[in-house]
Formats: sequence, C-alpha cells, structure tokens
Amino acid sequence: MKIAVLSRNRSLYSTRRLVEAARERGHEVRVLDVLRCYMDITSHKPKIHYKGEDIEGFDAVIPRIGASVTFYGTAVLRQFEMMGVYPLNESVAISRSRDKLRSLQLLSRKGIGLPVTGFAHKPDDIQDLIKMVGGAPLVIKLLEGTQGIGVVLAETKKAAESVIEAFMGLQANILVQEYIAESGGADIRCFVIGDKVVAAMKRQGAEGEFRSNLHRGGSAALIKITPEERSTAVRAAATMGLNVAGVDLLRSNHGPLVMEVNSSPGLEGIEAATGKDIAAMVIQCIEKNAKPNQTRTRGKG
Ligand code: ADP
Repeated sequence: MKIAVLSRNRSLYSTRRLVEAARERGHEVRVLDVLRCYMDITSHKPKIHYKGEDIEGFDAVIPRIGASVTFYGTAVLRQFEMMGVYPLNESVAISRSRDKLRSLQLLSRKGIGLPVTGFAHKPDDIQDLIKMVGGAPLVIKLLEGTQGIGVVLAETKKAAESVIEAFMGLQANILVQEYIAESGGADIRCFVIGDKVVAAMKRQGAEGEFRSNLHRGGSAALIKITPEERSTAVRAAATMGLNVAGVDLLRSNHGPLVMEVNSSPGLEGIEAATGKDIAAMVIQCIEKNAKPNQTRTRGKG
C-alpha cells in the first residue's frame, strides 16, 4: 500500500514509529506536512498539491494533526477523503473530538460515565453553577488548555468562586467538574484500535500533584484494566467515530469515568510503558480496513 502520514514533523516519535512500522510491513510511506498541502477544492477531480507536485495514488492516510492546526488539518484530510483515500480517523471524528463540550455532550447522550460536569461562559450566578455540579472540591478547566495547563483544583467553595471569576474575566469558556479524589492523582490511558483496547497505562501525577500529565512530571506504568473499563473506552471511541483513539479514564467509586477522547494519541509513553509495538498494530488496522471511497460520517455529530 501507499500510505501518507500527515504530520508537521517527521522526527516526532509517533511519526517515526508509524513510518518504520509501515516500511517493515512492506508499505510505501510518505510524511507530508499538513500546512504545506494546498488544493483546488472546486475541481471535479479533487487534488492535493505539495511542493509543486500533484500527489496521488495514496491508499490510506494517517492523520497526526496537532490541536493547533485542527482547522486547516481537517480540511486537508477532507480533501484526501474526497479523493477516495482511506483515512485512519475521519475528519469529522477528529473535529468532534477536538471540541471538548461537544464530545462530552455526545458521550453523555450515549450514557457513558462522566464526572458531573457543567459548562459556563459568563454565569450571573456562580454560586448556583457550583451548586449544580455538587459543590467543592471542584476541578475548573479552561477549555482551550492542553497538557494540564488551565486545570485547577479548587478545594473550597470560596476558591472555586474566585477561580471561576478569574476565568470569566478572561472571556474564556470553562468547564466545572466534580473532583474525583479517589482516583488519587492518577488516570488511565486506554489505547483503542477498532473495537479493542490494545494497551493501557496508568499515569500517576508527581507527589502532591492531582494532574497526572506526563508533561507535568507524571509517570507511567503498565496496568491491567477491568472489563468495564475496557468496554467504556471502546464505546467512547466508537461514539466519537474514531478507529484509533486514546481514551483517558478516571477510576471512581462508581466505575470508570471518561475525561477525554484523544484522536491523535501519542505512541511514546504507551509503547514504553507496555513494551508493545502499537505502531505495527495501527498499520495492521489500516491493512484490514483500507478500501477506496470508504469515508462515511460515522457516529452522531
Ligand atoms: P488536559 O487535557 O489539559 O490534560 P485534563 O482534563 O486531562 O486536561 O486534566 C489534566 C489532569 O488532571 C488529568 O490527567 C487528571 O489526572 C486530572 N484531572 C482532571 N480532571 C479531574 C477530575 N475531575 N477529578 C480528578 N482529577 C482530574
């Protein structure tokens, strides 16, 4: 097969591993910087140009589109879809998963366990908002944040009020969430391919830190997950319409709760923690499913 990897940087671990795994399995691979792709969207025969060249003949495309380039990246991916190229994850599913509010609403509609969560932009009655989600302690999240930045634990009602007021002053959308204290500063990353969790790791925050992000000094370890956690992760990925996803769960007293579904999950942490060849599994998934003109908007958006 001829496979394109949409990635801004070919030296990133995940990109390198995918290229390596595809070549090992006898495929031809090319890394394309998504921002350098340009196209005539009105042509009857959709095309993509890259560095002056008309690129064609790809059987599959692996989108590794960073959060900061979602808008342009999904447009390029849509063009591949219009050309009949099989996308590992569809553009619609990626856009859906990048919108935290939309994602949580979709997951909630499917009855998937979530921490009690409120959305707000400029509430006139902050006390009522706090009451609505069950009172302090609360986790308040800036919607635009990544890697744990803009995620604050407010231990008291007073602290919650001040943080919400501060975020309101920034004109930001915020998410106010029940604090799952029993997860003990840890979360579980489930790597889903198709209808299976192929690997799982527990990420534990540094001492005294409730956020488990590896970028914030958290550490990762292999973990055995329960059948309920497995099925929750698979259902969450399916709800978003993602073939490959990183589903982050919190272990609560009332079962697994989904925090986030990531459409471009990194391979480095999970391959290191589990010793598994996840890149090869991703390529196998493409081998199994790639056919021309397969893009259907799956899931409900
Ligand atoms: P980001 O997407 O920026 O990483 P998250 O929403 O994943 O932000 O939050 C960062 C970390 O904070 C999570 O990995 C988790 O360890 C912790 N966390 C987030 N929400 C909660 C919550 N409601 N209860 C307990 N811990 C949480």
